Amino acid sequence: MAKRYSVGILGATGTVGQRFIQLLQGHPQFEITALAASDRSAGKPYAEACAWKLPGSIPANVREIVVQPIEPPLDCDIVFSSLPSTVARETEEAFARAGYPVISNSSSYRMDEDVPLLIPEINADHIGLIEQQRVNRGFTKGFIVTNPNCAVQSFTPPLAALHNKFGVESVIVTTLQAISGAGYPGVASLDITDNVLPYIAGEEPKVEIEAQKILGDFADGIIQKADFTVSAQCFRVDVVDGHMASVRVNLKETATLEDVVDAMRTFPSLDLHSSPDRFIDVTDEPSRPQTRLDRDNGNGMTITVGRVFPDSVFDYRYVALSHNTVRGAAGGAILNAELLIQRGVI
Ligand code: NAP
Repeated sequence: MAKRYSVGILGATGTVGQRFIQLLQGHPQFEITALAASDRSAGKPYAEACAWKLPGSIPANVREIVVQPIEPPLDCDIVFSSLPSTVARETEEAFARAGYPVISNSSSYRMDEDVPLLIPEINADHIGLIEQQRVNRGFTKGFIVTNPNCAVQSFTPPLAALHNKFGVESVIVTTLQAISGAGYPGVASLDITDNVLPYIAGEEPKVEIEAQKILGDFADGIIQKADFTVSAQCFRVDVVDGHMASVRVNLKETATLEDVVDAMRTFPSLDLHSSPDRFIDVTDEPSRPQTRLDRDNGNGMTITVGRVFPDSVFDYRYVALSHNTVRGAAGGAILNAELLIQRGVI
C-alpha cells in the first residue's frame, strides 16, 4: 500500500481549492487534514464557509474541518496553495520556511530562477532546482514548486513535442479562456454572457514567457531558457471550464505534417496516479477539439489537439485544449506532488 501524506489546502474555499477537494477524494497517497482561506472564512466549518460550485455536495470528509488562517503551522505534511498572487508570495514563503513542501498554483514564484515551473511529463528534471532554492533562501526541509498559468498548460505540451524534435523558433498563440479561470465570482454575467472579452488583466505577459522556462534546459543548478519568442492574445469566452489555444509555430528544422503529428502523438505520459493514459491526444476530426466535448478527456488531465496543418504564414498551426482547473491548476499540482514523492523529494 502507498504511503499516505496529510495535505493542507490554502485558498480551499475558492474555485481551484474546491477542485483540489474533489480530485483528492479517494486518492491513494493524500488525505486532507487542513483547510485555510481568508479572514472571511477562518473559524467556520468548511461547509459553512464555502459556496460549493462543483456538481454534487461538499464531500463528507471536509464538511466539518474548521477553516484556518493562511499561516503556519497547519496540521499536514504537504501544502497545496491556490491563493491569489497578492497574498501567495509572502504566505508560501512562510510555509516553505516553516518546513512544508509548497505546491503552488499562483503566479508569484513561477519565474523565480530557483523555483521549478513544472509540467511533470515535460520537465521533471527541473525539480533539481529545489536544492539550489534551499541554499539561496535558507529553507531547511521546505521548498516551493509551481505549475504554469492555466492557458500555458493548454498549448505548451504539443509545443514541447515539437521543440524536442525540431526546435521551436517562434509562436503566435490566441487563447479562448473559460470563465472559471477568473475564480469566483469572477467576471460579471452581464459582461460575459453573449460576449467575448479581448482582455484578461496580466495574462498576456505570463503566456509570453512561461513556456520558455518550462522548455528550458536544466544544468549546473540553473535553467537555460528556450530561445523562441511567443506572441499572445488572450480572450475570455462564454464557457464555464476549458481553455482553448489557437497556435501558429515556426520550427528550426524542416518537418513533414506526418512528423509533426507523430511527435505530438507519441509524447509519453507518466506512470503517476493522476497521469492520463494519453498526455497529448491528437484528433483527426475536423471539428475537434471542442471545449464542452473534450475538456474532460483523460479526467481533465489530457491535452486534446486538433486542426494540425501546414500554415500559409508560419510552418504549422494547431488547436489545443485543456481543462483549466484540472490540468491547468489542481490536477497539475497534485501530479507535481506525486512526482516529488516518486522522486524522493518529499
Ligand atoms: P478564487 O475562486 O477567487 O479563490 C481564492 C481563494 O483564496 C479563496 O479560498 C479565498 O478565500 C482565498 N483568499 C482570497 N483572498 C485572500 C486573502 N487576502 N487571504 C487569505 N485567503 C484569501 O480564485 P481561484 O480561481 O481559485 O484561483 C486561486 C489561485 O490559483 C490564483 O492565484 C489563480 O491565479 C490561480 N489559478 C487559477 C486557475 C483557474 O482556472 N481558476 C488556474 C490556474 C491557476 P475566501 O473564500 O475566504 O475569500
